[in-house]
Amino acid sequence: MPSIGCGLLGWLSSENRELVTGWFGVILFSSSIVVAMSIKARRSSARKTQRLTATAFDSLLNGTDIFIFDCDGVVWKGDCLIDGAHDCLWKLHQANKKVFFMTNNSILARSDYLQKFHRLGLCWVLSDQILCSAFAAVIYFQKCPLSTNDKKVFVIGQSGIVDELTLAGIPFIGGPDFSDNCLHGAIGKGKTPKEIVHDPDVEAVLVGFDSAIDYDKIQYAQLCLNNNHGCRFVATNTDSVKHITPDQEWAGSGAMVGAIAGCTLQAPIVTGKPSSWVIDFLCEKFDIVDRGRVCMIGDRLDTDMLFGLNNHLSTILTLSGCTLPTSNWQDDVVTPHFVVDSIRDFFALTTS
Ligand SMILES: [Mg+2]
Repeated sequence: MPSIGCGLLGWLSSENRELVTGWFGVILFSSSIVVAMSIKARRSSARKTQRLTATAFDSLLNGTDIFIFDCDGVVWKGDCLIDGAHDCLWKLHQANKKVFFMTNNSILARSDYLQKFHRLGLCWVLSDQILCSAFAAVIYFQKCPLSTNDKKVFVIGQSGIVDELTLAGIPFIGGPDFSDNCLHGAIGKGKTPKEIVHDPDVEAVLVGFDSAIDYDKIQYAQLCLNNNHGCRFVATNTDSVKHITPDQEWAGSGAMVGAIAGCTLQAPIVTGKPSSWVIDFLCEKFDIVDRGRVCMIGDRLDTDMLFGLNNHLSTILTLSGCTLPTSNWQDDVVTPHFVVDSIRDFFALTTS
């Protein structure tokens, strides 16, 4: 059984990933685990984040073919478009720029997001422009497929993952309704729970956000990862918190992924931001050679901006979502190229 440390090193070396994010930077000493934050971003100590000016935006516009927008906190908040987002995105679309939307939220599939874009009035958005982390998991399994046709994925997650795997024809078990009821009424009541019989053909455990995660799901994943030879631990993302309601942070996918890491001592292969699976997919699909002509716009330093910086993209931090104007974002090791209050400012800058 690989340790978290070995798993992490294997993950980095085999895929040549350039980053370790969040608490998955882990060092294993004998039986003691020391968890250390280890974010490696491409940071120049001499470079500071610049406020986006009209001149800088004009230059960026001329030098950029592809704009990738994070969604929540950048394009919308909950079910409301951010003021000016519609105008900004339409102008980029009209300027023949390729526009993509990339979210780490695995609850929904691309088809669900498409409905949301259209509901919010962005009717020109096509399914191909949407890159959710459930689809990022599909990209991963298409690059690194299951070894034989009888192998399958065990899913801890909701309908977004289930729908994307189904669409891609990737065999899986589990999902939101999975339950073995192995422990109900047993623990602490002097009863012996029945043992779970896990499927020996599960070759990967895929973990995303699951508001109904329970001990049965964790135990099933633990059995697969610890007993099925070569079983891979894959996560859509490791976001620590998310916004389910506008004013409160809720435990994110990192909580579900952490539960599985905790009982297997393995580190996950992350498919969403900040990993490079999606940008590699885009570069291959659109023959992008110069990644400097791609710009990532997002409101989170540890996912959006780290994704951009580690993948050689230009980066714009927006202060309209997770990162607030009053937070000490300037002190972070992750240093975006530009900052704006909102994407509303992009074209307003050029006309003011
Ligand atoms: Mg966001």
